Amino acid sequence: MRRRLIYYAILLTPLLLLVLAETNPSDVTPINWDLYHSSDDLMEQINSLVHRHPDKLSIEMIKSGNKGYNAEVNVVTYCRGGRDSDDRSNFRILLTFGQHGRELITSELAFRILSILSEEQFLPKKNGAALNSTLDKLVIKMVPIENQNGRKRVESGDLCERRNGRGVDLNRNWGVDWGKKEKDYDPSEENPGTGPFSEPETQIMRKLAISFDPHIWINVHSGMEALFMPYDHKNITPEGLPSQKMRTLLEKLNKFHCHNRCMIGNGGGSVGYLAHGTATDYIYDVVKAPMAFTFEIYGDDQTSPRDCFKMFNPVDLPNFKRVLNDWSAAFFTLFQLGPLHLDGNSSKAADKWVSIDEYLDGYLVERKNRYGKNMEVIDVGMQEIKTYFRLFLLSSVLLMFMFCSRIAKSKYSRNPIPVSVMP
Ligand SMILES: [Zn+2]
Repeated sequence: MRRRLIYYAILLTPLLLLVLAETNPSDVTPINWDLYHSSDDLMEQINSLVHRHPDKLSIEMIKSGNKGYNAEVNVVTYCRGGRDSDDRSNFRILLTFGQHGRELITSELAFRILSILSEEQFLPKKNGAALNSTLDKLVIKMVPIENQNGRKRVESGDLCERRNGRGVDLNRNWGVDWGKKEKDYDPSEENPGTGPFSEPETQIMRKLAISFDPHIWINVHSGMEALFMPYDHKNITPEGLPSQKMRTLLEKLNKFHCHNRCMIGNGGGSVGYLAHGTATDYIYDVVKAPMAFTFEIYGDDQTSPRDCFKMFNPVDLPNFKRVLNDWSAAFFTLFQLGPLHLDGNSSKAADKWVSIDEYLDGYLVERKNRYGKNMEVIDVGMQEIKTYFRLFLLSSVLLMFMFCSRIAKSKYSRNPIPVSVMP
């Protein structure tokens, strides 16, 4: 009997040690409050930033609730130059951060972007004049913390929580392909709610998206480094030119700001699993934003999946700074390039605001996309086409000048009309 006990003890000890190691909280990284704001502090900072810059920023709080559950979403609007932010001719960009509670870094990025927009902080290596002329045409609406209730749970120690205050994943609660479950469905991660738009936060965001009708939508997350376009619920990207425009833009951002590390493609295909009822699919398919993206700005795939703060957020100062610097620069590049990549009805606000060179660049990018195989030919011919276009303009002006001077001459050669009979 005794021998058997010793035998079991020897057998079970490693197992016990393993269980203890798994449950030992000391291997889970706590939130680094030296780097991160609490959600209350962050909203307070953003509120005072807005009040310091009433010429550029404004803020509104939208509330909603059902079945005893209430949520509020703060929306910051950036619009400068005394324009009416509701004017439909503006180029409109809608950004949301902190849709998942545990992804604290995304809301820090929101604050950084707002600080740069209000000119309290600056981007290194950016052409200020070019940036200013871009920003004069935009209206940007930002939701710094979409999921405030879920975020509160994370702050009180539930570091792996991504869902809202009553356990629903806000990025599975939208109306496109809602409720479909994959084989590896885990309700502690992806609970889609009791129906599409059952959650107050999603209702508020849908209302905001429909009323603002953005040209560009970006849902900012963390957990990996990726630039995603539709679709999340099927393993294809939309067909045709709009899709190619989105991809071209993402490729540029990847090259300039992600050191080509970011995964690019449709959310559903690239991550290896499909996601149903996501915000980006709804805003692309139903709200009809010409460009709809999900950006994933940071991820530590070397860490244990239980160590959520470390997996989803940079934990040391150099990485924290790098992520905010790289991604705020990426957003300002997008503010510049986004309008140039859209044309026709969707670029109504972009009319008359690019130089001929910029226009030709944009035009040729589109040609490249449409005729993928002719890419090299057009690339080589770009300079020549620009030169021909300039020559064409110059000769047109000369012709006009000659024509006008001829008319003037023939006029003067006729007998002048007496001044008195002129009306
Ligand atoms: Zn997320």
